[in-house]
Amino acid sequence: MTVYEHSVLLDESKCTGCTTCIKHCPTEAIRIKNGHAVIDSERCIDCGECIRYCPHQAKRAVCGTISNMDRFKWKIALPAPSLYGQFDNLEDLNHVIDGLYKIGFDDVYEVAKAAELVSAYTRIYLQTEGVAKPVISSACPVVMRLISLRFPSLADNIIHMLPPMEVAAKFARRRALEKHPELKDEDIGVCFISPCPAKASYVKNGFGDYKSAVDEVISIKDVYFLLIGKMSQDNNIDFLSETGRIGIGWARSGGEATAIFNENYLAADGIENVIHVLDLVETGNIPPLEFIELNACTGGCVGGVLTVQNPFIAKARLQTLRRYLPISQNTLLPEEQNYISADYLFEDLPNYKPITRLGNSLAESMRMMADIQKLKSTLPGIDCGACGAPTCRAFAEDVVKNNARLEDCRIMKTAAEQDSKDSL
Ligand code: SF4
Ligand code: SF4
Repeated sequence: MTVYEHSVLLDESKCTGCTTCIKHCPTEAIRIKNGHAVIDSERCIDCGECIRYCPHQAKRAVCGTISNMDRFKWKIALPAPSLYGQFDNLEDLNHVIDGLYKIGFDDVYEVAKAAELVSAYTRIYLQTEGVAKPVISSACPVVMRLISLRFPSLADNIIHMLPPMEVAAKFARRRALEKHPELKDEDIGVCFISPCPAKASYVKNGFGDYKSAVDEVISIKDVYFLLIGKMSQDNNIDFLSETGRIGIGWARSGGEATAIFNENYLAADGIENVIHVLDLVETGNIPPLEFIELNACTGGCVGGVLTVQNPFIAKARLQTLRRYLPISQNTLLPEEQNYISADYLFEDLPNYKPITRLGNSLAESMRMMADIQKLKSTLPGIDCGACGAPTCRAFAEDVVKNNARLEDCRIMKTAAEQDSKDSL
């Protein structure tokens, strides 16, 4: 069995066992055991919410460093569209790209450029006969993993389109080989500059049978501090950027959905809202829609935990930058509009075990479900977290699965001790 490699880790020495994170984990993946947090690898979707809420910085994202790129002869940067929203008073995207060359990259391939092509093909995908509607975006890796673990019945609705990061990586590599025939594929290193740890997990683990074309993921935070010292203030800078408003728009919630040029869409952001929308889709309680864009972070990728700027300020900055851009700089040629190129598609979704499945068979799962309900009805129902589980229901599940003991419930234990004293 392949082990899923996560990008959100716990620093046990900093964890006080305060229980803050267990209340914010959307998949109930954290428990407090022996005084500190423990993450269940099968349930964790690398959303980074626990990093956001931990008051002691005990949770951290594991990303690469720029020096890791030194092993390659030809280094390519893939800046996420959200990178452009991080800088005070930035008036021109070209300053960021110029800065990336100055910090040591040999080429820059904007993910926003690839996003414009993905948008163009998404419009074709939506017109393809037989696709399950509403089509759900595949761009946010947290949402993809969440669907696989918690909403597997919606897997058919996921668009089989690679996210812009992957399309950019493939094309950047191809461009390098075309321009520099002396290079071999292994000489080329592709580095994604990421707003979130989930992208790093995607690169490490691939997706279904698909292996990522990205070699390193480094955080926007790390690159930001390198860039501000190098970015030019000169207005006569070369014209380097190859993106328009559509590509930059992908950095914020709603940007991908508006680029389908069809009003019949829904865009939701923030993990709680995402779960709510997926619940509604699963139960059929939404009106007919063509497309659903979901971003785990509030505001979209600008709200990722590896960014430096407040998401709402970053969004406002991007709004200003977009004003001076053409709608798109990347459109499909007429001969490309007949079908979707294989460069953009993935075949199979990952085969995760749904976390809602309790046992190895339906009968066993139903029995365990009944046991959980019965036990839960006897618990105090105040979701205090003192047992180390986020809710009384989660605690009941842990007990039924033999992952916790009933006496771990402090209230039940105190009541039992009192009863035995009273009976003496
Ligand atoms: S929030 Fe979680 S990881 Fe952070 S100190 Fe508290 S229990 Fe530990
Ligand atoms: S990264 Fe998200 S899913 Fe994983 S433990 Fe933290 S809050 Fe839970």
